[in-house]
Amino acid sequence: MSSDSPIITASAHAVPSYLNADNLGPWGIYLQQVDRVTPYLGSLARWVETLKRPKRALVVDVPIEMDDGTIAHFEGYRVQHNTSRGPGKGGVRFHQDVTLSEVMALSAWMSVKNAAVNVPYGGAKGGIRVDPRKLSRAELERVTRRYTSEINIIIGPNKDIPAPDVNTNEQVMAWMMDTYSMNEGSTSTGVVTGKPISLGGSLGRREATGRGVFVVGAEAARNLGMEIKGARIVVQGFGNVGSVAAKLFHEAGAKVIAVQDHKTALFDPAGLDVPALIEHVTHNGTIDGFRAETINAEQFWQTECEILIPAALEGQITAANAPHIKARMVIEGANGPTTPEADDILRERNILVAPDVIANAGGVTVSYFEWVQDFSSFFWTEEEINQRLVRIMQEAFRAIWQVSQENKVTLRTAAFIIACTRILQAREMRGLYP
Ligand code: NAD
Repeated sequence: MSSDSPIITASAHAVPSYLNADNLGPWGIYLQQVDRVTPYLGSLARWVETLKRPKRALVVDVPIEMDDGTIAHFEGYRVQHNTSRGPGKGGVRFHQDVTLSEVMALSAWMSVKNAAVNVPYGGAKGGIRVDPRKLSRAELERVTRRYTSEINIIIGPNKDIPAPDVNTNEQVMAWMMDTYSMNEGSTSTGVVTGKPISLGGSLGRREATGRGVFVVGAEAARNLGMEIKGARIVVQGFGNVGSVAAKLFHEAGAKVIAVQDHKTALFDPAGLDVPALIEHVTHNGTIDGFRAETINAEQFWQTECEILIPAALEGQITAANAPHIKARMVIEGANGPTTPEADDILRERNILVAPDVIANAGGVTVSYFEWVQDFSSFFWTEEEINQRLVRIMQEAFRAIWQVSQENKVTLRTAAFIIACTRILQAREMRGLYP
């Protein structure tokens, strides 16, 4: 086969009755990605429908008493997409636009990601449809604890292990760990990862996703014969992932020339002072107000650079802006930032895309280290963690690169070939119960 196989429309699929078949959202994008990989799965294709149906999707009501005495209800989700290779694993997102379709897609991408880097997990994801910026700290704690209690029936250190994602952090993980432990009657540190160090968290976890983005970017650059020193970097999203990736590229001698967050976009052709920008965001919660030229969204996406790193939300690189992107490669820090149409445009324009399922897998890899350390109650040094992280990321990226070269497919399809083969081999060996 000379190129990726054609897309089968999402409407051709059996769609769970709890989704709107005419507007599948991110889940529809994921289904298209599975269709692209199916011709490469050989006899395992018989099991492919397994990947198109989440194993378990829980929708919960999260009622809390607000500080002013009123009662507010939020909708929460926990989806376990696949557990053939091990317990479910994936983050929890607090965002006003969270939907079941989004959580389903994110859980599926976790299955693929965990298999792509070969950590012994299935895929899961959770979320609450809430704008946490509108909650006080006490309200946020109540939302987190009630949500954890509601999903308590399906999570656990051997069942499904949540972690941070957009708008959730170490503190939220500490509340989740405490709530689960109170319900179980004993302290269970291994039920979540991304915890504070003092509660069984792992050194290096906070920086792990951004570090993985950097490792994959450096490997991809090497394969294209490109130097990191002096390379121009553009980053969308300056949170946990984007800011750490920007910092590591900056430290390696690259120039971070444009950054965008939910409020504004900044541009400096000489390279932004990344440590100072991180300091600014720590105090202000946004890049807005930092001393640099501001640009609009259109200018941001057209900034000429070597490496573009989407590290905010999904669906950011679309058929509308992909034709104007002036980068040599896109390293997907965010989950699902590129639509399938944009993927095709970038491929035609010879812009390399290192897909999310490998590029941002550093976080779950160190989450795996954290979980292992919690079980053994024996903690590794940061140096050991970073060395193991780099080794796993490099090996996974090199295997994906090779499969992509052999089959003349994109890195995304290559990552899906490796991952879906691992998942479906496990499914086939386990067989169907009963
Ligand atoms: P975060 O909440 O720390 O940061 C998100 C950033 O995106 C913020 O700077 C925010 O201002 C910006 N943003 C939000 N909406 C935006 C918009 N419309 N336009 C531009 N910028 C916008 O989140 P994070 O943990 O850095 O996660 C970012 C992405 O990386 C998400 O897609 C997440 O799923 C993915 N990811 C995170 C991890 C992790 O370990 N945190 C691991 C794997 C993947």
